[in-house]
Amino acid sequence: MLSREEREFVGVVRRFVDSEVKPVAHDLEAEDIYPEKLIEGMKELGIYGLAVPEPWGYGKVSAACYVLVTEELARGWMSLAGAMGGHTVVAKLILDYGTQEQKDKYLPRLATGELRATMALTEPGGGSDLQAMRTVARAEGGKYVVNGSKTWISNGRRAGLVALLCKTDPAAEPAHKGVSILLVEKGEGLTVSRDLHKLGYKGVETSELVFEDMHVPADALLGTAEGQGFAQMMRGLEVGRLQVAARALGVGRAALEDSLRYAQERESFGRPIWKHQSIGNYLANMATKLEAARQLTLFAAQRYDEGDRVDMEAGMAKLFASETAMEIALDAVRIHGGYGYSSEFDVERYFRDAPLMIVGEGTNEIQRNVIVKQLVGRNRVAR
Ligand SMILES: Cc1cc2nc3c(=O)[nH]c(=O)nc-3n(C[C@H](O)[C@H](O)[C@H](O)COP(=O)(O)OP(=O)(O)OC[C@H]3O[C@@H](n4cnc5c(N)ncnc54)[C@H](O)[C@@H]3O)c2cc1C
Repeated sequence: MLSREEREFVGVVRRFVDSEVKPVAHDLEAEDIYPEKLIEGMKELGIYGLAVPEPWGYGKVSAACYVLVTEELARGWMSLAGAMGGHTVVAKLILDYGTQEQKDKYLPRLATGELRATMALTEPGGGSDLQAMRTVARAEGGKYVVNGSKTWISNGRRAGLVALLCKTDPAAEPAHKGVSILLVEKGEGLTVSRDLHKLGYKGVETSELVFEDMHVPADALLGTAEGQGFAQMMRGLEVGRLQVAARALGVGRAALEDSLRYAQERESFGRPIWKHQSIGNYLANMATKLEAARQLTLFAAQRYDEGDRVDMEAGMAKLFASETAMEIALDAVRIHGGYGYSSEFDVERYFRDAPLMIVGEGTNEIQRNVIVKQLVGRNRVAR
C-alpha cells in the first residue's frame, strides 16, 4: 500500500523514536516539560509537512503513511503525535478549502513547522454539540469582530494559527448553516487564559482561549463563502480521527512491546511469566486486537486516499483502536504486577495516555452516533 519512499520514511521515524524519543520520554513526561528538541527534530524530518504537497511543501504522503508515522511517534510518546495532529488537520483544511492567497500565505510555513497550527472547536459549554457553540464572529466594516471562548485546545499556547470554528450567523436555521472557519493569527483580543492540568498527554500544553472583541480581517474566512465551516470541519475531522486512531495504535504497541519483554524477563514459580497460561493469553489477545485495530485504521486510510467519504470508517477506526489501546494498557499493567502501577515504568504512562483517544476528536459515544447514522443511511429500508 505504501510506496518504497513512504516505507523508508516510516523507518526513519521509527529510528528517530528509538534513538531520540524513547530515552527521554519518561523523564520529560514526569516533569511535564515541553519537548522542544524533539519537536525541532520532527520539523527537520518534515513531519509537520506531511499533508502539504508541492509547490508549498515537498512531503505530502498517503493517509496510510501518515497513520504509520503517527503510530511510530505515539509508540515513543503520545504527546509528540498530539503535537502534530491538529496541525495536519488545519493544513488539510487550507489545502482543500482555502483560497489561493490562503494557501500561498500559510502552507509553506506550516510545511516546515515554522508556523504551528491548531483547531479550536470545543467550548466550555460543550464539545460534542458543536452546533450549540457560542463563539460569534460579527461582520463589521470589512472585518470580523470575534467574541467567545474555546477550551481544551491542544498546542493552544505555541500555535501561531488557530482554525476557529465559530458562528458568523447565530440566527441561522439549521444552526450548522451559520458556522464558518476563520484562520485567526494570534494578536490583540485573543488571550491564552490558562493551560489545563491533565491525567496524561503531558509536556504539550492544552489551553483555554478567550476572544474579546478581536478584530480579524474578512479574508481570514476559510474559502470564500460563510456557512461552510461545519461541513469543512467534519471532512477535516476524518483525518483527525485517523490520526487519533493511529495514536492509539502507538500507545497500544508500546504497551504490548514492553509487556512482551517483561514477560520473558520476569520469572515466578521458576519460569518466565509468559509461560503461565493466563499471561500468555493476555499477550496473545493484546497482539490480536492491536493488529485488528491497525488493519481497520489502514482500511479507513486507504478509503480516504481513494477520495471516499470516510466518516464511518474513520469513526470505526478511532472507536475500536482507542478502546483497544485502553484494554491493552490495562493488560500491560496486570502483566507488570506491582511495577505496572509504578511511575518508574512506562506502562503507567500508557494507562494515563490511552483515555485521551477515547474522548478526543469526538468522544466514542459520538463516533457510535456517526457510525449508526451512516449505517442506516447506506442501508435504508424502503417503507
Ligand atoms: C487533552 C485534550 C485535548 C483536546 N484538544 C482539543 C483541541 O485541540 N481542539 C478542540 O476543539 N477540542 C479539543 N479537545 C476537546 C474534545 O474534543 C472534547 O473534550 C470532546 O469533544 C468532548 O466534549 P466535552 O468535553 O465538552 O464533553 P460533552 O460534550 O459535554 O460530553 C459529555 C459526555 O456526554 C456524552 N454525550 C454528549 N452528547 C452525546 C450524544 N449526542 N450522544 C451520546 N453521548 C453524548 C459524551 O460522549 C461524553 O461522554 C481536547 C480534549 C482533551 C481532553
